[in-house]
Amino acid sequence: KLYNQVQDLKGSIRVYCRVRPFLPGQSSFSSTIGSMQDDSIGINTASRHGKSIKSFSFNKVFGPSATQEEVFSDMQPLVRSVLDGYNVCIFAYGQTGSGKTFTMSGPRDITEKSQGVNYRALGDLFLLAEQRKDTFRYDIAVQMIEIYNEQVRDLLVIDGSNKRLEIRNSSQKGLSVPDASLVPVSSTYDVIDLMKLGHKNRAVGSTALNDRSSRSHSCLTVHVQGRDLTSGAVLRGCMHLVDLAGSERVDKSEVTGDRLKEAQHINKSLSALGDVIASLAHKNPHVPYRNSKLTQLLQDSLGGQAKTLMFVHISPEADAVGETISTLKFAERVA
Ligand code: ADP
Ligand code: MG
Repeated sequence: KLYNQVQDLKGSIRVYCRVRPFLPGQSSFSSTIGSMQDDSIGINTASRHGKSIKSFSFNKVFGPSATQEEVFSDMQPLVRSVLDGYNVCIFAYGQTGSGKTFTMSGPRDITEKSQGVNYRALGDLFLLAEQRKDTFRYDIAVQMIEIYNEQVRDLLVIDGSNKRLEIRNSSQKGLSVPDASLVPVSSTYDVIDLMKLGHKNRAVGSTALNDRSSRSHSCLTVHVQGRDLTSGAVLRGCMHLVDLAGSERVDKSEVTGDRLKEAQHINKSLSALGDVIASLAHKNPHVPYRNSKLTQLLQDSLGGQAKTLMFVHISPEADAVGETISTLKFAERVA
């Protein structure tokens, strides 16, 4: 409820930033982070005019020492609004290695404490549904898909089949990818098993030197249907938790063939997403949803009553400063 009030004041698009800590073995001698407040960050830049700090504002900034629990607890009201029938999109944006997957899923060797937003969000929805069980009956089901080179793939298949899926325009039952597996879930154990399957399927096509997951978008969609036990009224909400492809610019003079094609698809879809969110943020009458598979998929969950959180991630290393600035400019544009 509090979140709704905050939303009414600030509009339905929020932009957060998280700074990854230096990794073990990395020298923290030169950090790009010149200053950090609750809602702004200053980046050290050097040019021929000398050193300066370029500052960017957000709804919220999480520093390198923020825990998974702190991050989730800030997003909890947004997540919970799904049970009141809102549509929610949460995007993790940033260059490869900046911590998107850490935020959304967790580290590779995951523990309960290091679980990311996906696990915590579902766990919290189960908890709240249980608390409301005398007045509401909730059914929760998930889909997990990947968009790679503008093709949609189901990540919850057991046989590893690699069928291309279509996005439907007029969504039957609120599903924009009706042919993707839709799996009912009722406990965190169900979710952990499904995420394992999803991650296993996502790794198909990757090699040690060539981690495809950083070049595809993955989207966990949580569909919620709630029935008011007294009136019989039914409400529906859905939440998309999206781990976006790495936003780094690829030097076109250095890549060819498949890598160039991938880079062009990523570029196109991230800028299409930026265009859509910027149009919504600035209340433009025309919102260009049709320009990428990702924005087509999310059309019903971006705009209108829907709530959006763009969560940008940055790396602290000095040699990432170019990508960091470009990530922060993307964030500035959609705010
Ligand atoms: P991305 O998905 O953006 O490519 P990852 O989430 O894979 O980046 O993060 C890169 C590395 O940094 C991983 O080893 C990850 O565990 C680690 N990492 C990222 N964010 C954090 C954090 N907030 N705290 C500790 N380690 C992190
Ligand atoms: Mg990742």
